[in-house]
Amino acid sequence: MSEPGRVNPVETAVKTMPKFLIDVPHDPDVLACARVVQVFLASGSHFLTNADWGCMDGEHRAWMLVEVDSRSEAQSIVPPGLRAHATIVQLNKFSMDQIDDIMRRHSPKPAVSREDAGVSSGPP
Ligand SMILES: [Zn+2]
Repeated sequence: MSEPGRVNPVETAVKTMPKFLIDVPHDPDVLACARVVQVFLASGSHFLTNADWGCMDGEHRAWMLVEVDSRSEAQSIVPPGLRAHATIVQLNKFSMDQIDDIMRRHSPKPAVSREDAGVSSGPP
């Protein structure tokens, strides 16, 4: 069904996968903690085996940054027993242009250009 000639290289390059932070908390109990780590490492999932843990710093959670198509796909990475407590946050980046635009729209008066013009004229 797909024709090889119809691949659009621009579209492929521009399209970026959404990025999600998966936060999976677990019980601070030593055995519970070890069990969760074991589940992750034994899963064979690239995402789970590469998770970052806060346990050694007293923060019993695992974090993963994943790029997948959807939130539900991110959710499916989490082992079923831990899914209910997992938090999934879709991440975005801001560009300076975006921030400038937001600031412009939310600031009461764009007085910057007027001050600029006044500074050079006249002694203090
Ligand atoms: Zn832990």
